[in-house]
Amino acid sequence: MSAAADCGFCRRAAAAAPPSGGWIDRDELVGTFLLPGCEIPGWVCVQTNAHLEGWAALDAAHCAAVAAAIGRVSRALAALTGESRVYTYGMGERFPHFHQMVGPPPAAVPPADRGAPLLARVASRDPELADRDAALHLAARLRESIGPRRGDRTANEHHR
Ligand SMILES: [Zn+2]
Repeated sequence: MSAAADCGFCRRAAAAAPPSGGWIDRDELVGTFLLPGCEIPGWVCVQTNAHLEGWAALDAAHCAAVAAAIGRVSRALAALTGESRVYTYGMGERFPHFHQMVGPPPAAVPPADRGAPLLARVASRDPELADRDAALHLAARLRESIGPRRGDRTANEHHR
C-alpha cells in the first residue's frame, strides 16, 4: 500500500527491533506499546500491524484482535494501578494508521477534573501529566503482567 511508505506506524510494525520501551503486547494483527511523545504513566497505544485507516477498514478479525488487546491491557492496568476506569480514544487526524490510545486517569487528578477535560489534556500531551520514568516502569510491569503473546514471542524475548 503506497500510504505505508511514509507511515511511522507501518515502519514500527515492520521493524526487526522493538519500539522504544518495547512491545507491551503483540500478536499477528496488533501491537501495544508506549507512543513516543505520550509519556503519561499507564497510557499506551494499540495499533494494527497492517496499514488500515479507521474502524471502517477493519475486518472482523482485526476488530476482535483490537478489542482483545484493549481488554488485556485494561485488565492489567486495573490490577496494577487499582484504577477501574480506562479511557480509550482514536482520531486518526495526524496519523491515519489505525490506532487507539488507552490509559487510566492519573490518580493525582481529582474526580471533578476527569472525563472530557482530562481527555483533552491527554490528547494534547499536557506535560504536567507526563512522567517518562514512571511511564517506562509501568510499561515494563504491564508487559510482565500480560506476558508474551502468540505469534511474536521474539518481540519480548529481550525482556526475559
Ligand atoms: Zn501505516
